Amino acid sequence: MKVTDRTEFFRRLKAVMPEPKTELDYSSPFELLIAVILSAQATDVGVNRATRKLYPVANTPQAIFDLGEEGLKSYIRTIGLYNTKAENIIKTCRILLDQHGGEVPRDRKSLEALPGVGRKTANVVLNTAFGEPTIAVDTHIFRVSNRTGLAPGKTPLQVELKLLKVVPDEFKLDAHHWLILHGRYTCKARKPNCPECIVRDLCRFRDKTVL
Ligand code: SF4
Repeated sequence: MKVTDRTEFFRRLKAVMPEPKTELDYSSPFELLIAVILSAQATDVGVNRATRKLYPVANTPQAIFDLGEEGLKSYIRTIGLYNTKAENIIKTCRILLDQHGGEVPRDRKSLEALPGVGRKTANVVLNTAFGEPTIAVDTHIFRVSNRTGLAPGKTPLQVELKLLKVVPDEFKLDAHHWLILHGRYTCKARKPNCPECIVRDLCRFRDKTVL
């Protein structure tokens, strides 16, 4: 995709979504971190349903640590992989308390050292909680980047590094949200809604759907 097309691509997404936000509910970096850990292979709606009950009871590393694994499981049982997630979250809370004064660290290395936190989760936290221009490549972003020709790559890391190179600086902070929302609601996995897509003329996908 040409540089001018890339700029136009994001200009249009911004025009329809001026202030894109994550669809996960949270009110602190810690709540966001836990929600993102829970969201692996789960829907944001499902995670929000669980955290809506959990956070009024426990929304700090100490409070969740005090719940213990079994106590935490009773709130997240409806979410896939909840056993592993509960174990990781309790270990993460322990590390936050022991090594970070109960705060979520603002650097990638420390974030990725937390159990249950990989590069994608670290990117989401750095971007959404701390305003860093990182791009977390999930399944939606991976698909949209490849289909459109915006940032083709064989792995999420390849796509991430390409996006960091090609997304104009002025759009970098919110690029990850625009691409997720575009992928979730328009450029869907099974049947992209090409006829109503606002970037249709810029997109390089060969098999665009028709009405
Ligand atoms: S035209 Fe179709 S394939 Fe291209 S971005 Fe839009 S919805 Fe996706």
